Amino acid sequence: MNHYDIAVVGAGPVGSTFARNMAEKGFKVAILEKKKEVGVPLQCAGLLGKKIKKVNKLPDEFIINSVRGAFLYSPADTVLSVSKKKSEAYVLDRVSYDKFLAELAVDSGADIFLNHSVKKVDSFDGDIHFKRSQNTKMSADVIVGADGHSSVISRSFNPPAKSFQAAQYLVDVGERRFKEDFVHLYADSRVSPGFLWAIPLSENTARVGLFADANYQQLTQFLDELIKKRPELAGATILKKFYGVIPKQNPQKKLMKDRVILLGDAASQVKPTTGGGLIMGFVCAKMASQIVSQALEDGDINILQNYPKTYDDKFKKELKVQLMVHKIFKSLTDSDLEYMFRKLKEEGAEDIISQYGDMDNQSPLVKEMFKRGILFSILPKMLSRGISSLWK
Ligand SMILES: Cc1cc2nc3c(=O)[nH]c(=O)nc-3n(C[C@H](O)[C@H](O)[C@H](O)COP(=O)(O)OP(=O)(O)OC[C@H]3O[C@@H](n4cnc5c(N)ncnc54)[C@H](O)[C@@H]3O)c2cc1C
Repeated sequence: MNHYDIAVVGAGPVGSTFARNMAEKGFKVAILEKKKEVGVPLQCAGLLGKKIKKVNKLPDEFIINSVRGAFLYSPADTVLSVSKKKSEAYVLDRVSYDKFLAELAVDSGADIFLNHSVKKVDSFDGDIHFKRSQNTKMSADVIVGADGHSSVISRSFNPPAKSFQAAQYLVDVGERRFKEDFVHLYADSRVSPGFLWAIPLSENTARVGLFADANYQQLTQFLDELIKKRPELAGATILKKFYGVIPKQNPQKKLMKDRVILLGDAASQVKPTTGGGLIMGFVCAKMASQIVSQALEDGDINILQNYPKTYDDKFKKELKVQLMVHKIFKSLTDSDLEYMFRKLKEEGAEDIISQYGDMDNQSPLVKEMFKRGILFSILPKMLSRGISSLWK
């Protein structure tokens, strides 16, 4: 039987990053990945705030495009244009980046086992059971479930995770139509609190997608409608279609049991407002690696109990704000959205969003809007629609 200090289930970006952190500290690490090839198929828009460079390695070769602004469209085409002087976000080649992170973990000393689908783990004694009879028996002092949105590890001590569905097309519009350093975000009450996006990869190609509480047939319909309706997308050739899942935040989710912890999408460590999970996942990978190494060095598995607490201390407040924003958006009709966009434009919110907007941290913007009374000028209309019940 192979015994490891740590077994990481899932060679996604977050699992590989955690595995690398632990291997660099000198621990014996196994990565167990059900797929034959890391990173495929693509299930990501690949848009990451510039903070990514502070929380993980990102060589320039994986950056397809840099973005410094956004056009935000209301349902009836009121446009808010927000921007920074310098690049605010990167558009990544996610497939190659996932492979790069897994290779880094292996270069740091981790063993990777592809084609190894974990069926279940025993949180008490650390035994790992695989789906097919690969004759591999494995155990670990600490098991990390980084196995994504439908995590089998999470399901062994949590109810099934709730999630949004996502769809994305790679499109070519055949001519120079995109301002490369601006993304397009489209509000539509049918998909709220999700939204639609067009993220340029070049002047003529883009990732066009959405996430929503809807089935794949509806998602496809919304995307097709968007492409027909929007002048920047009209007539686009669809080169590829992708489908995926974004976990919903669940403050009740248990992040650990005995010698098992959850990380990344498996732990629903995703920003509610954008569905982005990479930066938060990388921050949590670092946090978890500090706690897990302490537990292993001290030979005291109870130290893992510090993980949920440290996570709450860091993220609880911000997640609460984002969930509140989410809840409001979910309740809005198209006419509410229209009113909100017009009011924001009138009140000069483009400048405020440009100044205080941060892809990864929405509290400063919400606070500033609140301070300047802009939220109050939008709220009466919403309250009149009887959504005050949201705040209960
Ligand atoms: C359409 C779409 C667009 C997105 N856009 C963005 C974006 O622009 N920016 C952003 O930050 N985030 C985005 N996200 C979210 C982001 O892709 C995820 O948050 C991120 O992939 C989470 O990484 P992870 O390592 O936790 O999990 P995953 O990337 O899901 O990796 C989990 C790994 O575990 C493996 N696995 C699963 N089950 C088992 C098992 N039983 N045994 C062994 N291995 C297993 C899987 O094969 C996979 O390799 C998007 C998601 C979608 C669906």
